[in-house]
Amino acid sequence: HFHGENQGLMRPFEPSMAERSIERLRMASRIRQGIEQNEFMLHFQPILDASTGQVEKLEALLRWPAADGTFVPPEEFIPLSEQTGLIVEIGRWVLDEAARCHVALARAGHGHLSIAVNVSAVQFQRTDVAADVHAVIERFALPRGALAIELTESSLMANRRSAMSAMRRLSAQGTHVSLDDFGTGFSSMAYLRDLPIDALKIDRVFVSDVYANERSASICRAIITLAHTLGMGVVAEGVENPAQQAWLMAAGCDFVQGFQLARPMAFDALLAYLHPAEPASTPVRPA
Ligand code: C2E
Ligand code: MG
Ligand code: MG
Ligand code: MG
Repeated sequence: HFHGENQGLMRPFEPSMAERSIERLRMASRIRQGIEQNEFMLHFQPILDASTGQVEKLEALLRWPAADGTFVPPEEFIPLSEQTGLIVEIGRWVLDEAARCHVALARAGHGHLSIAVNVSAVQFQRTDVAADVHAVIERFALPRGALAIELTESSLMANRRSAMSAMRRLSAQGTHVSLDDFGTGFSSMAYLRDLPIDALKIDRVFVSDVYANERSASICRAIITLAHTLGMGVVAEGVENPAQQAWLMAAGCDFVQGFQLARPMAFDALLAYLHPAEPASTPVRPA
């Protein structure tokens, strides 16, 4: 009976457990080195008011340049950073860098735009995010609402009591909180009832075919109604074409974000995109 032997012959073509764990160790040490050598950067994606088209806020997205000029996707290093605890240090750097960029943004006349930073569930549970945001706001002398955070549903589920306390302190200090990827996690209506959440971000999976799929449309409508009746705003993520944008606008979605409107971009490109405010010395021409 050769069945067992054939299976044995197949094995060398799959990476073994040992090979996988060596690859993970290598990646973790590359991440650690990336932090030490300041290799990370932030890109910014505008979030627009759906009805006026005005930029209302920005989402900071972590970028790690690779040797070939591309970026290592966050999905490839964030899960491992969470498992190794490196996310705590990365998260601290992200907050710092977002604050630094807000100072530069204000200098260019765009200080009214808030910057939303993604906080992973591990970071939310292991660190005092409210205190960290507060500290960075003080250190850079930023306005109260200059920084906001985005959490996923999983952040709120693990330890309800401490999540509740952290959320209350964030709210009290004027740090807005959005619930990211809404509808794809393990949702509980109880936390929507009890926690101070400023906005829900409808996940891209529901936005992608909203104008063509009646079920996606129903889910988007339900999320918009849920948010509004609870006094929260709604952001649609991953808006990639005019049909999606038109549908969301008609359905009363407050904010839109996606490639159709603007891609995530480096800070310099962001300043160009925002059109620097007219210098104060520019003479105002009478009408
Ligand atoms: P997210 O927070 O849901 O961010 C939105 C993702 O969708 C970003 O991917 C963004 O580039 C992408 N996106 C925006 N508009 C469109 C669109 O129209 N179409 C498509 N297909 N994609 C769009 P990105 O930058 O690769 O980030 C992926 C995820 O990594 C983020 O999802 C977030 O969960 C995480 N992440 C990014 N930066 C950070 C960070 O600084 N800290 C933590 N903890 N997580 C981060
Ligand atoms: Mg996000
Ligand atoms: Mg999202
Ligand atoms: Mg996501």
